[in-house]
Amino acid sequence: MARTIEIEDMITVSTLAEKLSLPVTRLIGELFKNGVMATVNERIDFDTAQIIVEELGLDVQLAKKVQEAALPVREKKPHTDAASSRPPVVAVMGHVDHGKTSLLDAIRGAQVAKGEAGGITQHISAYQIIHNDRAITFLDTPGHEAFAAIREHGAHLTDIAIIVVAADDGLKPQTLEAIRFARKAGVKMIVAINKIDKEGADPNRIKQQLSEQNMLVEEWGGDTVIVEVSAKTKQGVDNLLDMILLVADVEDFRAETDGPATGLIIEAHVEQGRGPIANALVEEGTLKQGDFVVAGTTYAKIRTLESTDGRPLKTAGPSSPVIIAGFKALPEFGDEFVVVGDEKAARSQAERMAIQKRGQGGSDTMTGSELIRIINRNNKVQEMNIIVRADVQGSLTSVIDSLKALDTDEVAVRVVSAGVGAITDNDIHTASSAGAIIYGFNVLAPTPVKRLAARDKIDIRLYSIIYELIDDVKENLSHLLAPEVVETDMGRLVVRAIFKTTKSEVICGGEVTKGKLVTPALARIMRDGEQIATVEVTNLKRGPQDVKEVLEGEMCGLSFHTEARVDLQEGDHIELFTRQTVTRSL
Ligand code: GDP
Repeated sequence: MARTIEIEDMITVSTLAEKLSLPVTRLIGELFKNGVMATVNERIDFDTAQIIVEELGLDVQLAKKVQEAALPVREKKPHTDAASSRPPVVAVMGHVDHGKTSLLDAIRGAQVAKGEAGGITQHISAYQIIHNDRAITFLDTPGHEAFAAIREHGAHLTDIAIIVVAADDGLKPQTLEAIRFARKAGVKMIVAINKIDKEGADPNRIKQQLSEQNMLVEEWGGDTVIVEVSAKTKQGVDNLLDMILLVADVEDFRAETDGPATGLIIEAHVEQGRGPIANALVEEGTLKQGDFVVAGTTYAKIRTLESTDGRPLKTAGPSSPVIIAGFKALPEFGDEFVVVGDEKAARSQAERMAIQKRGQGGSDTMTGSELIRIINRNNKVQEMNIIVRADVQGSLTSVIDSLKALDTDEVAVRVVSAGVGAITDNDIHTASSAGAIIYGFNVLAPTPVKRLAARDKIDIRLYSIIYELIDDVKENLSHLLAPEVVETDMGRLVVRAIFKTTKSEVICGGEVTKGKLVTPALARIMRDGEQIATVEVTNLKRGPQDVKEVLEGEMCGLSFHTEARVDLQEGDHIELFTRQTVTRSL
């Protein structure tokens, strides 16, 4: 009978591993195979856990703990009568390869998918389109499984989630994950059954699977909005946009347009010659060029304000995705921004945030596990120093989080420096003094930097697919593992005569009572069941003849070398064994 294990609706990878009595790395590996890249401390939902348990073929039945912990949904402020209607903010979610990017492209009329490494959307952005004279804002949420954390944030930013399901495939772990995120964040869902142009497309099967998730389609008496589309032929795309506007009308999304703007940072990176650049979504109020904005622990006087397709803007109202230049440092994905009166207020608020963050255990304070790692460092943990550079803050966080998951009791990755943007001279200097390898994710190393690296013999490794980067670090980390020593027992001799004893050598004779004796070999000298020395067998003789091996039942002469004098006695046992070192991998 299968064992039943109760788990929470959302469970961290480490807790699940513990409950299943599995090594956490095995669980992470299985999640990875199923397209969910989660680190030890990340939470996965019940359905994903269930799928993984099935895939692992464990004789375990998962059951949901009854009480459901509600995910905090960002509070929507009450609006005054003056609040105006605003465009809906829409995110496209779903399983990898079901066509999220293609659908976003079909809507935008652009062809971004083709330029991406491995067809993967690497970072979150946003754009606005006009349909029937009305604006709709799309969050270009990352489709890649490595960015589950960002997707989770994505749902919080969103009014409507489009759950993309390929008509020729079906509901997959990430589809379920997306449905769960959307439900918990209180976001309206529209299911887009995509790829209906394909042979083998079976929208009815998808509807059936949806009903199993308590999502009953309208034609079957439910209220789940479903649109059949093809991102390829664009069939149904207009209908999808109509449905978005219809849902928006029913929900009546509103915001204040007056007053200082507030909103969220959805992406940030450094641009050559322009400094930190942030993509942000205005939620309330009107953002203006020249405004002072605080975001997280940094602030800006808005030098330029642009739409996400690069048009300069003087102002931007609710639900507008914008590009802001002028930040002093990079804000982080998910930071709320707020407009304040002047530079002094901006600076002091940013400083206050920094102090608060440190107090809450931000990046400057140490977590328990980091502390343990440092304590261990003095004992046995072997560390691999690395420098990480990534194109945007979101990817950088994902890379670093995934690297942390590689740590074991013996080896650990130490990120000595990390940043957004191309690899710099300074990275080479840091790498040189720290003995670090530089990893770049979706960034380049300019030629002069490469030259400097070659001169200083610094290893730069550039990747555009996250799991390839992680695999490479893992392989390097494996080299740090102490090789495993494997001892193999050979045979045993009982000592019948001692011919010669010096400080470093003994020659004796006896009978092989077990196995076979070989040379060269190591041996334990045993007396009354206790080990009195470990020695090195240097020679075996059968009669006057030197031999390589002697079998059980035979008499032989045995010479051994010893570091410290051994007074061998008749009746002692000499147990021969060989020792091999075997390299290990993580
Ligand atoms: P994502 O990982 O969800 O962003 O998926 P992509 O947009 O990268 O699409 C995955 C694959 O499905 C690509 O090869 C697309 O060309 C293909 N695809 C996407 N939408 C359609 C569609 O409507 N019809 C067909 N035939 N192929 C599609």
